[in-house]
Amino acid sequence: MTKNERLIQELSELDKKHFLHPISPIKQQQEDGAAFIFTEGKGVHLYDLNGNCYIDGMSSLWNVNVGHGREELGKTAMEQMQKLAYSSNFSTFSNEPAIRLSAKLAQIAPKGLSATFFASGGSEANDTAYKLVRNYWLLKGKPSKKKIISQTKSYHGVSMGATSTGLKPYREFTNSLAPDFCYVEHFSAQALRELIETEGADTIAAFISEPVQGAGGVHIAPENYFKEVREICDEYEILFITDEVITAFGRTGKDFGIEHYGVTPDVMCFAKGVTSGYLPLGGVMLSEEIHQDFIELSEGTMLHGYTYSGHPTACAVGLKNIEMIENENLTENAKVMGKEMLNGFNWLKSNLEIIGEVRGLGLMGAIEIVKDQVTQEKFDSPVSPLIVGEAAKRGLICRSVIFDGQDTLVFAPPLIINKTEIEEMTSILYDSILAVE
Ligand code: PLP
Repeated sequence: MTKNERLIQELSELDKKHFLHPISPIKQQQEDGAAFIFTEGKGVHLYDLNGNCYIDGMSSLWNVNVGHGREELGKTAMEQMQKLAYSSNFSTFSNEPAIRLSAKLAQIAPKGLSATFFASGGSEANDTAYKLVRNYWLLKGKPSKKKIISQTKSYHGVSMGATSTGLKPYREFTNSLAPDFCYVEHFSAQALRELIETEGADTIAAFISEPVQGAGGVHIAPENYFKEVREICDEYEILFITDEVITAFGRTGKDFGIEHYGVTPDVMCFAKGVTSGYLPLGGVMLSEEIHQDFIELSEGTMLHGYTYSGHPTACAVGLKNIEMIENENLTENAKVMGKEMLNGFNWLKSNLEIIGEVRGLGLMGAIEIVKDQVTQEKFDSPVSPLIVGEAAKRGLICRSVIFDGQDTLVFAPPLIINKTEIEEMTSILYDSILAVE
C-alpha cells in the first residue's frame, strides 16, 4: 500500500466514524465511505486525494463565485486576523470591515435597501428576516400579522424557521413545524392572492421568494411574476422578502437576481457569494423605510443577534470578494458564459433524446431528463443521479434534483469560467448521458 493509499484509508475510516455529514445519506455513507476527499481548489477546478481533477460545475454549493484558490482573499483574511480577528458588535460596539461592508451593500443593492443585519449564513439570514418582520408588525401595532408565506418548491435553509418554509421533505424531517407558516404554488400570483384571501391579510407578515429557485431545480419566474407579487404585497400590507442567498453577487448576470424583474423587495437576504464561501457570512438588508420605522418604534433592546453578526474577518473577506467581482467584471462574464452554457444545453437537447426542457439565467442552469421529448414523460425512476455519477467519473461535478417527481440536472459553475471550460462541461455531459442511455 502506498503512503497516499494509507492516508485515504485512514481518512475514510475516521470520516465514517466521526463526521456526520450535512444533507447526507447516512446509511450509504457508512457503506461506501466518502466519495471524494477534496484537497485543493484552483480556479473552476477541485482536486481530490486520488489526484483526480474536476470542474466544479456547482461552485461547490452555488457559492464559490470567484473560483477556488484566490490568494487575495487568503491574504485579506490573514491581514484582518492579525489586526483584529474578532470583536463583538452587540449593543454599540462596532468594527470597520462590518461598517464598510454594510455601506458597500447599500451602494450595490437594489435601490431603497439601505441597512444590513449580518448573520453567518443563509438559514440564519432567513430566520432573522422572519423574526424582524414579525417584530416589525408588533411594533406597528398589528400583532396578528405573523404568518410567513413561502413557495412549495423554494428552499430557504435548515434552521427551525428557515426549514419551515419551502420544500416539503425538509419540513417533514423534524416531525413538527414552527407555527405560522403557509405555502403557495410557485410563480402563480393568482394563487398567492387566493391564499392571502383565505388566510386573511391581517394574519400575514411576509411573503418570501427566491428570484430564481435554486435547490428546488433552477426554476425561473415568468417576466411579470414579481411585479404582480409586489403589487399584491402592497395592496394587502404584506412585506416582500427576496432570498438572494444563491442569486446575488453576479450569479444570474446581474448584481442581484431580483434586478431582472425591476422591483425592489422590502427585505433581502444574502449569504454564499458574499464571500464566495471563503468564510461563513450572510445577512439581511432592510429598506430605508423599514429601518426608519424600527428606529422610531423600537423601545429598549432589539433581542436578536448572533455572536458572529458582523464578524470583522468575514466582513473584510466579503468586501475584498465584492471588489474582485467588480474589478474582474464577473457579473458580465456570468451573463455571457451563461448564454454559452445554455447554448451547450440546447446543443445537447438536439443531439440526445432524453433531454427535455433546458433553462438558464446567468450561471444558473438546468436540464430536465425525460423519457419522451415530445410528451415530456419522465422515466419510472430518476436518471439524473446516474448522470451525476457518470459526470463525476469524467471530471465534472454537478447535482441532480429529484423532489416532487423532478428528474433534473442543475449547474452553477464559478463566475470566472471561460468558453473552453464550458465546452468541456458540455462534452463531459454528452458522454455521461450516452453512458446511461
Ligand atoms: N436560501 C437559499 C436560496 C439557499 O439556496 C440556501 C442554501 O443552499 C439557504 C437559504 C441556506 O443557506 P445556508 O446553508 O448558508 O444556511
